[in-house]
Amino acid sequence: MSVHGDAFPMQGGCDCRGVRYALLTAPLFVHCCHCTWCQRESGTAFALNVLIESDRVALLEGTVDVVHTPSNSGKGQKIARCPTCRIALWSNYAGSGDALRFVRAGTLDEARRVAPDIHIYTSTKHEWVILPPDVPAVAEYYDRKQYWPEQSLARRAAALAPR
Ligand SMILES: [Zn+2]
Ligand SMILES: [Zn+2]
Repeated sequence: MSVHGDAFPMQGGCDCRGVRYALLTAPLFVHCCHCTWCQRESGTAFALNVLIESDRVALLEGTVDVVHTPSNSGKGQKIARCPTCRIALWSNYAGSGDALRFVRAGTLDEARRVAPDIHIYTSTKHEWVILPPDVPAVAEYYDRKQYWPEQSLARRAAALAPR
């Protein structure tokens, strides 16, 4: 959604360039997460995650190592990392399984085109991070139906539907 311009695919990758991938279309939604898990995993104040169907992320070069990592929900997340430089490229969370990916926005070549659709877990936001007044912000998580565009809800339902 909140990606400026309509130039897709949008490419990204790791530091050593062993892994290259492309987002084939605009994402479903973009989270800026201020939870303490994301702070620890990113080593900074928040994580910027692009939510998109897994089959709209094309691996162009290399392979990823999937590392099982604890998560806030207790159900764990699978973090896909470059096998060489170990940069994290995306996560799959238990909630939406393997159908949806949370792509680390900062690994996109044109990461500056990505802006959050919502700020979540602002209850643990760093004090110095000032949020813009025109972007939704919630203390913890949120009801998808209240914030996602119709089209993204439909795409998510299709991705999670049993085949
Ligand atoms: Zn690498
Ligand atoms: Zn988080």
